[in-house]
Amino acid sequence: MSDPQVFRDAVDRVARIGEAAGVAPETLDALRHPRATLTASLPVRMDDGSTRHFVGYRCRYNDALGPTKGGIRFHPGVTLEEVQALALWMTVKCAVVGLPYGGAKGGVTVDPKTLSRLEIERLSRAYMRAMADFVGPETDIPAPDVYTNARIMGWMANEYEAIRRTKAPGVITGKPIELGGSLGRNEATGRGAFIIIEELAKRIGLQATETRVAVQGLGNAGYHVARLLQQAGYRIVAVSDSQGAIYSDDGFDIESLHRNKQETRVLSGVYCRGSVCELIDHKRIGNDELLELDVDLLVPAALEGVITRENVGRIRAPIIAEVANGPIVGEVDAALRDAGKTVLPDVLTNAGGVIVSYFEWVQNRQGLPWSLEMVRDRLADTLTRAFATTWESHETADISLRDAAYRVALHRIADAIESQGTHEFFAGGK
Ligand code: NAD
Repeated sequence: MSDPQVFRDAVDRVARIGEAAGVAPETLDALRHPRATLTASLPVRMDDGSTRHFVGYRCRYNDALGPTKGGIRFHPGVTLEEVQALALWMTVKCAVVGLPYGGAKGGVTVDPKTLSRLEIERLSRAYMRAMADFVGPETDIPAPDVYTNARIMGWMANEYEAIRRTKAPGVITGKPIELGGSLGRNEATGRGAFIIIEELAKRIGLQATETRVAVQGLGNAGYHVARLLQQAGYRIVAVSDSQGAIYSDDGFDIESLHRNKQETRVLSGVYCRGSVCELIDHKRIGNDELLELDVDLLVPAALEGVITRENVGRIRAPIIAEVANGPIVGEVDAALRDAGKTVLPDVLTNAGGVIVSYFEWVQNRQGLPWSLEMVRDRLADTLTRAFATTWESHETADISLRDAAYRVALHRIADAIESQGTHEFFAGGK
């Protein structure tokens, strides 16, 4: 899907679901337009002494419910429209899980794999120098996303503090623990997705040991959800990264795969005992093939737009848990529903990351670090409540879980916007 299309798709989905839910036109109109987007050229001194100019974006989509929140992505495919679509999804996500945040997103069009560590540090600092007046602990709080991590967040927080000449850990979340990060943030997106899958399993009687799973993208989110699912008894029969996918009918040991990939940078079917790893029987398959496998649960955890009109007819998994943002394009929502598929929507399934980011921000403001147990308990509590509200709306209105989650979110945003008065109020109505 082209990028203008990604954004239009996101806006159309909000309009379609909002209209059906009776959300006031003024609210839907507000959600058609990002509040503000900053595009900046980022000059970075390269290791050979030359200067390269990268393009960076930050979009603050809607702040009706609070300061805006959303990750920063370093990826060659980043565009203005993609950032805006992701910022709109963040707006919906924060609202559905009841956080006092609006939505935002940022990104740099870059292939970070081609940069040295020092160049990535300079790029991260250049991004924050360009955005320092646009973000802030009370206005807009970034976090990690694809190909960014805790160290990069630490550099950005440090740059912001140098510019402001003050300590301001609440300007960014997903930081290293030593710089004010939260315990449990690193695993939060995967753990959150696991909690949501388990909530669905309880409702529909899904048995972990009888469930075969394929995970696309063994990055931060994909690794943790796969690890937790495997620990709970699910069989992870296929995983992939940007280089390709592997399949084993017997299932993989995710800890071993991950450890081996960290060391060799290659995804291969291994089983490790201590420091000894042996190759187990597995098949190399294409990334597209992984999506079409005959499994019980498909977990797209890489990038958006992977299930489209072109391949939707070949998707065999009856349950799809959207751990990535926007892996299913809006125009196939109806086809999946008609085919009887259950889709756990991204705005709920991957909200664990932003929830623990919120906890980190609260801890930074309190100056009081929480224990890992407290973070995990509160994460589980927030997500099980959000799932229950969504499930109730899904059952009572007989709509998909995505439509139900959007309804919950849009009504919360609408209440905030409408509390300031709408056409109806000023014309003498309610
Ligand atoms: P990451 O950079 O840690 O991992 C991305 C993974 O996807 C890598 O393993 C990469 O090899 C793989 N990948 C890239 N292209 C691929 C392709 N074509 N096919 C298969 N695999 C491919 O990123 P992440 O933080 O895990 O984010 C993954 C998704 O989850 C994104 O959509 C992101 O927006 C979403 N998400 C992440 C968080 C978070 O806290 N990290 C929170 C919410 C949503």
